[in-house]
Amino acid sequence: MRYRSTSGKAPLTSLRGAVLRGLAPDGGLYMPAEIARHSPQELEDFRGLPFTEVCYRVVRPFAGAELPEDVLWQIVSESINFPVKLVSLSPGLHVLELFHGPTLAFKDFGARFMARLLGYFVRGESKQLTVLVATSGDTGSAVAHGFLGVPGIRVVILYPSKRISEAQEKQFTTLGENITALEVAGSFDDCQRLVKQAFSDEELNKRAFLTSANSINIGRLLPQMFYHVAAYRQLPVASVPLIVSVPSGNFGNLTAGIFAKRIGLPVARFIASTNANDVVPQYLLNGEFRARPGIATISNAMDVGNPNNFPRLLDLCRNRLEYVQKEIWGHGATDEETLAAMKMVHERYNYIADPHTAVGILGWEAYKREHPEPSQGLVLSTAHPAKFAEIVQRAIGAAPPLPDRLAACLKRDKLSLPFSSNYADLRKFLSAN
Ligand SMILES: *Cc1c(COP(=O)(O)O)cnc(C)c1O
Repeated sequence: MRYRSTSGKAPLTSLRGAVLRGLAPDGGLYMPAEIARHSPQELEDFRGLPFTEVCYRVVRPFAGAELPEDVLWQIVSESINFPVKLVSLSPGLHVLELFHGPTLAFKDFGARFMARLLGYFVRGESKQLTVLVATSGDTGSAVAHGFLGVPGIRVVILYPSKRISEAQEKQFTTLGENITALEVAGSFDDCQRLVKQAFSDEELNKRAFLTSANSINIGRLLPQMFYHVAAYRQLPVASVPLIVSVPSGNFGNLTAGIFAKRIGLPVARFIASTNANDVVPQYLLNGEFRARPGIATISNAMDVGNPNNFPRLLDLCRNRLEYVQKEIWGHGATDEETLAAMKMVHERYNYIADPHTAVGILGWEAYKREHPEPSQGLVLSTAHPAKFAEIVQRAIGAAPPLPDRLAACLKRDKLSLPFSSNYADLRKFLSAN
């Protein structure tokens, strides 16, 4: 399979080229040059096959001849080693739990798969690859766990000392092995500045082999098709249209949903469910895309004012507003509405939703009010409620149960290295290690 840039000015490249580069040289985002449809019979067969086999069949065409079959099989089976659970709140409303991976959020799909793909692509390189990331909380854990134990790659995570929660910190500072956490005496902006300086340091890049494992990497998007297919397999067969509500920030999740639709999944429409950062819902209303600084909300993994996958959404809809509107309907929720929805879901369905999932449920309800005709709703649940225990406590008056994985990691010792916010120190560290 060849990959092209959404900006159309970069040469076609291989999957390896697209994954190693991240961003295309013309500043665009990589897209598969074509997307092959599965026949209705093939899709029907998906219902009866083991999930690993289904994921393998879904991603195979996107790898083409570049990856030997056994290698791709291993990448798929090692990365997707946790379940996707469908919970039916009512006959017409289902929640797809994507948070049963090691860091209790859906980013495990993308991070684990991309880590192994990158691990394969750098095999045989003489230099070890260093994945360098700055985190304000959640990205660090998904990337650290994704790359944990992958040969040939080490991860260096910079995070601001004392500015993230203990649960967040322990998720990526207690791992050891090929994961190093640098606890920077400074802010998240300092961490980002240090990382940027390292990437633009030509001298350093001659000696060290650095990459960013950025969220716009196509290697993170492809495996996000898997759970859209998982939903199709598990949903009751229905004659009414399927509407999928996606809690969205950078819109990788929703983009992967449209990929899944293009390979044949019968989704009638997607809902772009956002918090107050409603740049895309606004665009859907008035046709104007106005990026702006992110606003802090209680669904903070979606506090994005300039969604970085938007060019892919446009590209998939032939850059025409009316096609985007046909594919996606939008809704932005306030924090008050989100807290009230968490309470309502708990009272009505005895279900604990995290704030991001609650934003998805609000999107579905708003859609239903405007489109009362029969349909089936699927809300993607992107995080385990225990990751947002304080907000859950505020909404429903009780803390959610702590999963064993999180409890175990809270007991382990922090292994991070105290670090200054001077670039010279980072440079020395990356050159020496
Ligand atoms: C990253 C994240 C999102 C947003 O996903 P995008 O693909 O960026 O739209 C939603 N919920 C949670 C919990 C996340 O971590």
